[in-house]
Parts: sequence; structure tokens; C-alpha cells
Amino acid sequence: MELVAGIETHVQLKTASKMFCGCAVRFGSPPNSLTCPVCLGHPGVLPVLNRKALELGMRAALALNCRIAPLTKFDRKNYYYPDLPKNYQISQFDVPLARDGWVEVRSEAQTRRVRIHRAHLEEDAGKLLHEEQGSRSFVDLNRAGVPLLEIVTEPDLRSSEEAYAYLSTLKSILRAVGVSDCDMEKGELRCDVNLSVRPPGSTALGVKTEIKNLNSFRYVQKALEAEFRRHVAELDAGRTIVQSTWLYDPDQDQTRLMRVKEFATDYRYFPEPDLPPLAIRDEEIEATRRSLPELPAARCDRFMREYGLSEYDAQALVSERVMADFFEDVSKATGKPKTAANWVVNEVARILNEKKAALEETRLAPSALSDILSLVEAGRVTAASGKEILAHCVDTGRPPAELMKELGLEIVTDTDEIERTLDGIIAANPKAVADFKGGKDATMKFLVGQVMKATKGRVQAPKAEELLRKKLR
Ligand code: ZN
Ligand code: MN
Repeated sequence: MELVAGIETHVQLKTASKMFCGCAVRFGSPPNSLTCPVCLGHPGVLPVLNRKALELGMRAALALNCRIAPLTKFDRKNYYYPDLPKNYQISQFDVPLARDGWVEVRSEAQTRRVRIHRAHLEEDAGKLLHEEQGSRSFVDLNRAGVPLLEIVTEPDLRSSEEAYAYLSTLKSILRAVGVSDCDMEKGELRCDVNLSVRPPGSTALGVKTEIKNLNSFRYVQKALEAEFRRHVAELDAGRTIVQSTWLYDPDQDQTRLMRVKEFATDYRYFPEPDLPPLAIRDEEIEATRRSLPELPAARCDRFMREYGLSEYDAQALVSERVMADFFEDVSKATGKPKTAANWVVNEVARILNEKKAALEETRLAPSALSDILSLVEAGRVTAASGKEILAHCVDTGRPPAELMKELGLEIVTDTDEIERTLDGIIAANPKAVADFKGGKDATMKFLVGQVMKATKGRVQAPKAEELLRKKLR
């Protein structure tokens, strides 16, 4: 059977204040400290649209190749839930901000253009906190009224890996254009997926089910696999699929029924009477389009073309705009793009990974890495020492040349000093020396290793070997 999936993503737009009131947006503030009569749903108050939310929504939509509606409007989506004080959510129903976009998704299997059905603005709801012991629940409305963009794909995804690749691509685009940090741990990006199955070659769509509240890309992938298995098993057993909503249980690695699907009519959508329709002029759309930076896919192609990078390195760099900018700075300063890419993709990324830090949170400047590469290139430090210096730069932001001296990592070029070291090694390892002289050439490796150990790698291995061979001839 073939898997057919679509994804709905809610992305928190990076505004200073909420969508329809002046309350600040700040993660981790004391519960209900960021609220006012508007976002608490008091009677008689009026919403006012946050201009920045609209701008960011347009930016995202254009980066996803959508058409912006020249005239759009807001609607009320009515339902009762304790995290929704107004008993309706201001959203967009029949005239969304944007439609008909696409994202080019590169996965291992192939490159596919995943169509974006629509993208619309809406406000977030509050958050319910349930007591672990006991039966009480609490409501925190700090998040109520925070601006979101809901991005809905067509059912164009054909595997769980492709779903993962789509989300990674979406995230890198949204971060690149600065509309959201997409930090899933802070709930800034949340996914619901829908899935149906059909025989290969069929073009009809099967009955779909939805899986809600997936809070990591890995869980999206696992949930799709689990739900796919369930669909196939149901159909194999001669049963039918019922349109319904499911939750993914990572401990059991299976989906659990949440509720039988509600339909749009259940929400009694109607136009929001307190907000006027919104006309967006062409000039405004074109100005926003022009203000977009180079997008990750185009940048990846350019890195391969202009710097001769492998697709792997280029892809790794462009997935984070800050990393890509950093690489370009180092590359320009050193004139050695491949070496720069190699160090950024491997060493810098490894150190950041160990520290669980983002590049911009550290003290590492592009000039520091270009200085390190120059020191290595000039033979003043070994590559291994360069990596050690790099780690210190990340922490301290101090100049590499200074760190090199202080850490005693400068390569010994003084021949007398090297000679003395080698004599010491020869004297201390009579057996190895005898073996080497007796024709056991492999022993040389051991002796060079001893030199490296004694000098903490400050003598270049080929140089040490050359001199040792001379001495033991
Ligand atoms: Zn408020
Ligand atoms: Mn929504």
C-alpha cells in the first residue's frame, strides 16, 4: 500500500506583542501575567490587528511561494474549551491570507514539490496544566492571543521520511526569513498530520485520519509509520477506516483514538464583526517579496556552484542561516571555501552540539575561525591544536594567536629543541629502537607516537618521522 500524507503546521510569529492586544509575548513568564481584558475575553472589548503579525505572515507565505489574497478577512471559529476564554478563536476561514504555494523537498528518495494548500493567520489559545497527583487543572492564558500562521499542505507526501524532510525544510525557510524561531520546545512550531493509504498506482484518496499534537519531527515520522501500519492492518482484516482524530503514544509506538472527526460546519464559522476586511495592495506584496533574503534551496545551489561544495556540506550549512552566514564570512576571509565548510560543518557543529548551544549564543566570531585556519595553513599549529583553540574561542571569544601561545600549542620549529626531544625518546625506548634497526619498520609509527605524546602534538608527525629515520639510519 502507498502512504499519502499532508501536514498542518502552526507556527508562532515572532512579534513583541499579541495579535489583537498590546500584551507582551514572552515564554516562561508567571502564569496569567501577560493578559488584559482583550485576551481574557471580557465583554465589550475590541481587537486591533497587530501590523507586525500580518507582515510576518506575508513574509512566510511569500517564502513558501504562495499567492497573497488582495482582500482577506477574519472569522470566528466557535467552540467551547477552558483554554479559550472568548469561546471562539479568531481565525480565517474561506479567504485565507495566502494560497497555492509550494516547497521543494529534498529527501533521500527524490526531490518533490510539496504544494501548500493555504496559509492563514489565527490567534493561539491558552494552556491547560493538569496536576500530576490530584485532579485539579489550571489555566494559563499567557499564550492566548499569540499570533500564529497555520500552514496546510496538499496530501503530497509519500513517506514518513519525506514528511520529516518537509518539516526540516519548512523550518529552515521560516528561520531564514526571520518570521519565527520555530523552537519546538517552546511550542513555537506544532504539527498535526493526516494520512490515508491506497493501492500503488491508484489516484483516488482513501479515508484519512488525523494525528494531533506532535511535538517533534521524529515523532511525526514515527506516528505516520504507526498509523500507516494500523490502516493497512484494518484494511487487510476487511474493515474500513473511519474519519477520526488520533494521538501518538511514543512509549507503545502506536496511535490511540482521541475522537471521531468533527467537521468544519461544527465550528459555525462566521465573519469576525469586530475586525474590518483587509485589503493588501500589490505594492505592499512586491515590497515584502523584495525584502526576502536568499532562501535556503537557492543558497544551497549557489554554495555548490560558487564554492564547489558537496551537496551534503551545502545542505548542512544552509539549514541554519546563521551558520551559512558564518561560513561565507570565513570563506571570504581565507579564500578557502572547502576548508572553511569542512571546519564549520564538522568542528563548529560538533562543539555547538556538545554545548547544546546555537552559534549566535557563543562568542565565536568568523574572524576567529579564519585566524585559526591561517595558523594551520602556515604550519604554526597542527589541525588537532587548531580544533583545541577553536573550542576555547567558542567559550572565551579571545584571539586564536593569544590562545595558541597561552596553551603552548605552537609548533616547535626550533631544530635544536626537536633534536633534544628525539634523543630523549630514543634513549627511553631501546627495545623499539632495536626492533626498528632490526628491520621492523612498523615500530617507526610507535616512536613517532611517543614524540607526539611528549610534545603534545607540537611537532609535525612527518617532520618527526623524517628526523627519526635520519638518526636511526
Ligand atoms: Zn492581552
Ligand atoms: Mn489552527
